[in-house]
Amino acid sequence: MKFCEREIGGVKFLTIDSFEAAGLKHAFLGRGIDLRDLERGRETVRSLFKARELRLLEQVHSATIVHGAGKVGSRPRADAWVVSFRDTKLSGIAYGITTADCVPVIIVDLKHGFGAVVHAGWRGIVARIIEESIAQLVSLGGIATDLQVAVGPSAQSCCYCVGEDVRAVFSEMAANERWPDGEVVMKREQGLFLNLSQVVRLQSVNMGVSESQIVVSTHCTICNHDFFSYRREGARAGRQLTYVAI
Ligand SMILES: [Zn+2]
Repeated sequence: MKFCEREIGGVKFLTIDSFEAAGLKHAFLGRGIDLRDLERGRETVRSLFKARELRLLEQVHSATIVHGAGKVGSRPRADAWVVSFRDTKLSGIAYGITTADCVPVIIVDLKHGFGAVVHAGWRGIVARIIEESIAQLVSLGGIATDLQVAVGPSAQSCCYCVGEDVRAVFSEMAANERWPDGEVVMKREQGLFLNLSQVVRLQSVNMGVSESQIVVSTHCTICNHDFFSYRREGARAGRQLTYVAI
């Protein structure tokens, strides 16, 4: 399982080799599609990725998950989609989440044909959105060892400096979960640095996902200018799209 660099019509994005091999339409995009102009962004998704519709969430840093078969046109207040890849009524619909430093995650059960697309910021991770998403996929008939977890580009520990308050939350989580000291929060001369994608990996392992079925992007949205970054660009930063389509 690994990330692959792809490009269509001048738009760069990342995919997962095993998802591609299974015919799953998906992408982790960077700056190539700018959803600040939502209509134009949607049109680009339609034309490049042959999706008839892009559904997005009103993201609220929660552990709330919605099922993709819901009402067309609505923008549910939630941070993850769970979808059935075999629901032919949903054919051509892309389910997306947007991020700028938060962690985009795609979790799939290719055997049973279910998947989740998750927006995981630090608050959502503390609220346990990763575990909730995995639990929902398992409840649909799978088993955790069938799941594959792809953790996309996000603020990485090279740059993601956090305050004492956030450090305390994650140090407590690491202690409670008996995760190795220093894997989650790193103390350097310049400050405290959080490894959020590592937390996503560790939480997935806790839920029964095999280490070999988890891949973590090494792209850091703060120091890699191919991505939008809230930290680097402030409130005016764009958002990158991550989607799966049916
Ligand atoms: Zn960095």
